[in-house]
Amino acid sequence: MKKGTLTILSGFSGAGKGTVMKAMLAKYEDRYALSVSATSRKPRAGEVDGREYFFKTKEEFEELIAGEKLIEYAKYVDNYYGTPAEYVEQQRNAGKDVLLEIEVQGALQVKEKYPEALLIFLTPPSVEELKKRLIGRGTEEMDVIEQRLSRAKEEAVYMDRYEYIVVNDTVDACVERIHRLIQSQHDLAYYRQDLIAGMREELNRLVG
Ligand code: 5GP
Repeated sequence: MKKGTLTILSGFSGAGKGTVMKAMLAKYEDRYALSVSATSRKPRAGEVDGREYFFKTKEEFEELIAGEKLIEYAKYVDNYYGTPAEYVEQQRNAGKDVLLEIEVQGALQVKEKYPEALLIFLTPPSVEELKKRLIGRGTEEMDVIEQRLSRAKEEAVYMDRYEYIVVNDTVDACVERIHRLIQSQHDLAYYRQDLIAGMREELNRLVG
């Protein structure tokens, strides 16, 4: 079984990450596994524990940190968010391409631990559009929107640490671009170690 790839999708709050991820999973359901994060933030209307997030108290979250159960974690607008390690390992070992939808601090932590990880930053076409989408979502109070915009300003500093910047103009086009980027990862030498070892062995036998 070939090991699955690991892709991190970040982007400003309101960039449409959630929508793009859902569309990717719907279109290529056998290929991808989306990691479900743990968070200490309160569920939004319609969110289900274990589906959007594993909702934890601050204390429970701190136990996960202490028990080294997370690949990475970060604080974002006063709440903890982190990626449980077990699921990511299991799914990659089962050959699935794993997707993490996380913010920049966590993304850079993952890249340090897993240099083969692919870093993609998703952005709306303009700041004007970003603001419109944040307000249009209607799930947040105005002060939270302000906080998220100021967080976006901080995150923009790290945009060039990502390998690819994908502009979210239409969801379909975005899904295709991201799908192609991820699928080309299977040709990284990292995922071809068996083939490389086999070639070397045969050549050694042949040439002596
Ligand atoms: P939201 O509260 O809108 O669901 O998420 C806020 C931010 O937290 C988003 O940028 C999202 O990508 C990020 N996030 C979600 N899960 C994780 C995680 O496991 N780790 C990190 N570092 N960030 C996360």
